[in-house]
Amino acid sequence: MLKRKTSGVVRAASRTPLLTTVAEKSVDRRAFLRGSGLAIGGLAALGMTGGTVTRANAQEAVARAVDTVKTVCTHCSVGCTVVAEVDNGVWIGQEPGYDSPFNLGAHCAKGAAVREHAHGERRLKYPMKKEGGVWKRISWDQAITEIGDKMLDVREKNGPDSVYWLGSAKHNNEQAYLFRKFAAYWGTNNVDHQARICHSTTVSGVANTWGYGAMTNSYNDIHKSKAIFLIGGNPAEAHPVSLLHMLKAKEENNAPLIVCDPRFTRTAAHADEYVRFRPGSDVALIWGLLWHIFENGWEDKEYIRTRVWGMDQIKDEVKKWTPEETERVTGVPGAQLERVARTLVNNRPGTLIWCMGGTQHTNGNNNTRAYCILQLALGNMGVAGGGTNIFRGHDNVQGATDLGVLSHDLPGYYGLVPGAWAHWAKVWGEDLDWLKGRFAMLNGPDGQPAVDADGNPRSLMNENGIPVSRWIDGVLEDPANIDQNDTIKVMVLWGHAPNSQTRMTEMKTAMEKLDTLVVIDPFPTVSAVLHDRTDGVYLLPATTQFETRGSVTASNRSLQWRDQVMAPLFESKTDHEIITLFAKKFGFADRLLRNIGMESENVPMIEDLTREFNRGMWTVGYTGQSPERIKLHMANQHTFDKTTLRADGGPCDGDYYGLPWPCWGTPEMKHPGTPNLYDMSQSVANGGLPFRARFGVERDGENLLAEGVYTVGSEIQDGYPEFTYQMLRDLGWHTDLTPREKAIIARVAAIDGFDVSDEEIGEAEGMAFPSDYDDRVSAINWKTDLSGGIQRVAIKHGCAPYGNAKARCVVWTFPDPVPLHREPLYSNRRDLVADYPTYEDRKFYRLPTLYASIQSKDFSQDYPIILTSGRLVEYEGGGDETRSNPWLAELQQDMFVEINPRDANNLGIRDGSMVWVEGPEGGKVRVKAMLTQRVGAGVAFMPFHFGGHFQGEDLRSKYPEGADPYVLGESTNTAQTYGYDSVTQMQETKATLCKITAA
Ligand code: SF4
Repeated sequence: MLKRKTSGVVRAASRTPLLTTVAEKSVDRRAFLRGSGLAIGGLAALGMTGGTVTRANAQEAVARAVDTVKTVCTHCSVGCTVVAEVDNGVWIGQEPGYDSPFNLGAHCAKGAAVREHAHGERRLKYPMKKEGGVWKRISWDQAITEIGDKMLDVREKNGPDSVYWLGSAKHNNEQAYLFRKFAAYWGTNNVDHQARICHSTTVSGVANTWGYGAMTNSYNDIHKSKAIFLIGGNPAEAHPVSLLHMLKAKEENNAPLIVCDPRFTRTAAHADEYVRFRPGSDVALIWGLLWHIFENGWEDKEYIRTRVWGMDQIKDEVKKWTPEETERVTGVPGAQLERVARTLVNNRPGTLIWCMGGTQHTNGNNNTRAYCILQLALGNMGVAGGGTNIFRGHDNVQGATDLGVLSHDLPGYYGLVPGAWAHWAKVWGEDLDWLKGRFAMLNGPDGQPAVDADGNPRSLMNENGIPVSRWIDGVLEDPANIDQNDTIKVMVLWGHAPNSQTRMTEMKTAMEKLDTLVVIDPFPTVSAVLHDRTDGVYLLPATTQFETRGSVTASNRSLQWRDQVMAPLFESKTDHEIITLFAKKFGFADRLLRNIGMESENVPMIEDLTREFNRGMWTVGYTGQSPERIKLHMANQHTFDKTTLRADGGPCDGDYYGLPWPCWGTPEMKHPGTPNLYDMSQSVANGGLPFRARFGVERDGENLLAEGVYTVGSEIQDGYPEFTYQMLRDLGWHTDLTPREKAIIARVAAIDGFDVSDEEIGEAEGMAFPSDYDDRVSAINWKTDLSGGIQRVAIKHGCAPYGNAKARCVVWTFPDPVPLHREPLYSNRRDLVADYPTYEDRKFYRLPTLYASIQSKDFSQDYPIILTSGRLVEYEGGGDETRSNPWLAELQQDMFVEINPRDANNLGIRDGSMVWVEGPEGGKVRVKAMLTQRVGAGVAFMPFHFGGHFQGEDLRSKYPEGADPYVLGESTNTAQTYGYDSVTQMQETKATLCKITAA
């Protein structure tokens, strides 16, 4: 549907002469380059001449001794397997993995072009710094020394929080884990990654409804859906291979596909019912649907009685959303929503899918909870074919979130409370007092120590850091208004595209105000060129994930293993090596890596990092997936069922593919993983679960635990709280713990006079325990027991370690306990602003955050068109990698804005002409107009993958020579405006205002 911008003849998919030569004989890398007559950059140019992807010919490969290496696409969260063909260390070809249950031999354009990504000639080739306005090549030694000295100086003068460590969804799990640990050792919670700006509202909304903040089922499980309700997502472009699974349900089950979106997307083109609604009115839409369901008594009453708390309060709110009011707010006629409601009710179980169209709003957490409540009302949760299938974005955004690259969390969602730090200090073998000493105490505006409500001094160790969505305010805000001791002086952007964030005009100012800007990435990114700095910018070349190995977590919570395809190109280094170099410079490498073997001087052993997080991630069950088990799955993909994901025979018999978390207990326990969360039709040992008992056992005198329902085989045949040692004791099950488990529990509880060594724990049989052992360890629970014994014993008796509770529809700790519709900050419906106002301004995540003070001003006369944004199939994220890939750059060369023809005609704009799109905060972009009915009248859409132009200026000359992406363009986020979710600080990118004029 998108216009191809290059006219000409479609090329045949044939091998180039060069590839033909390579296929005929084995060559080493040097001969390959000499024979091709190409420099390294020429490898990338192959794509321009029509490289092709072919199915494996195993016999030929063996005969020619071409290695095949399994890895995973580094773009989206579907997790498609890539089979790389490697000849003497040179990556010469690739195929999609035919055995992978996720992609079944398919790839989208991005996956089919990953070899060109790794071999990209536009990559950073060596460390550089900007000096006197000129990029200069420097050595790694010089880079680490200069940057490290600067950071230590800032740490001394301004405090550890004045250095911001921004991590990445492009780290593998091991690197993500090490990165978060490294930030802790530096002494700051100013650490975050892209999840903040893509699905943070999902994580908080979903986790606070039923326990875990992740996709509940899987792409494959959609095969069993009888209906598919998709809102705010465009998987045909953002997660293309996922469409395989959705279309299978559509064809085999006759499952109706209902797509709700302000824009008629490529996904909507497959829909049985397309619901166009006004951007930012998701809650109203869902309540409008539920109005029909409750009015007709179509809800699953028994399910709600036994498994859901708070639905009555939802019913009270939904009563207000009559068809007339819903149409007034959303624009959707009542008759259409009644039809959709009937379809969902008559086709159960149905799945509900959402993406960033739902999450990126000032009330995004309300949206995600409303979606969950719709599924609860239909009884669609905890059942194959149902669930909330929340498609994550980047390849490892799920893993980086799980491993805690977040400003409000530690690995495994333990939070930042003292108990969380104590837990991880034990896992790390670290002195907790030393760790505490690394963090600053907060000073008040008078310079005196700030105290909490109880009069205790406030350590920044226990307070949320600044989220990535607000780092620019951490630089620009008056220090007196920030809950840390000084502003950010050094910014490290590690695997992050700044153009994926809003308010780019202010970002430019922030970048210019910093003392030092450090970019660590395979590509220079827009961070290299957005600002007008002449000095104090460093570019450090990181490898891609194809130049290392490690685990990656797909959207469905399955872990996959990437083997290393090729050695690091140029002078690039892996993320874990760069972390090590900084840790050495700061003098804490020995502490940071005390449990980790080294495979060379500065490169930690990846498998040891996996094993270390295995030992601590009890909350989410990242404990059973040892490197050996993950690798075994990868090697035996063909043995897994393509729908249930379960291995039928073979070495992984009974396991679910990728051991989707929670994979309880130790690896030795061999839990198979959990394919569908909250499925009571299975035993916990077999991947079943109830809802998590996370919110207490009672609220307002009402029972929050499940009512008489439980997982198959549970010996407790009712709801129950989370397991502690005391609970095991009350049940008489504590005697099932082994001496080894008891010894480890004793060590966790730090029983005086009972210090046991690792050797003694290894030979714990017959160990004598203190007489008051049971009392001393009673508080140890399923999350803090480092032996895994409490989990093992609970599961042995058929129970879930985390309890058996109801899901809750009302989150009493959130600004809107019952999800409410609230108008966007920049709304052109002033009538609705009066009825559905936003929040009052408030301070959280260390920063003042504006709501009412923006919404109270009427911008709608000057900026009458709603602006929204989204993805394209050709590119990913901020687009630096994919716009530097010649195969992909060819496909989409111009940044554009979609405008409804009616609006365009009224504005005097012709298709293909250049226009200015300007936001109400003054940011503007010069882009090509695409007139299309995809957007409704009054709505404009821009993709967010472009960068390298800024407010009409082409910044190409500012890139280091040879490292500029093939395609540059304006970033929609230059025109996008202020606005942050009331719980997570997610940025608003889906509902702001703009004006469009001819350029
Ligand atoms: Fe698969 Fe996503 Fe990669 Fe496309 S981008 S090949 S859908 S993992």
